[in-house]
Amino acid sequence: MIVIDNLKVTNTGHKQCVVCDQEKSEGIHLVEQFICEDCERQIVLTDPDDLFYHYYLKKMKKIKIPTIN
Ligand SMILES: [Zn+2]
Repeated sequence: MIVIDNLKVTNTGHKQCVVCDQEKSEGIHLVEQFICEDCERQIVLTDPDDLFYHYYLKKMKKIKIPTIN
């Protein structure tokens, strides 16, 4: 998760999370998309075999996300 940590930003104002569609002030930017801290944490913790993981992949297919392995 080093890649994601490096992208972490401390910005002000709220942005809409591309995963949960909620407005959050804390999170990361992937390309031009925003992912809130909560969703980032879920992604990090989610097992690739979990259905939850596929849900996020589906949500994020509009983003070019760096490979996380
Ligand atoms: Zn979110």
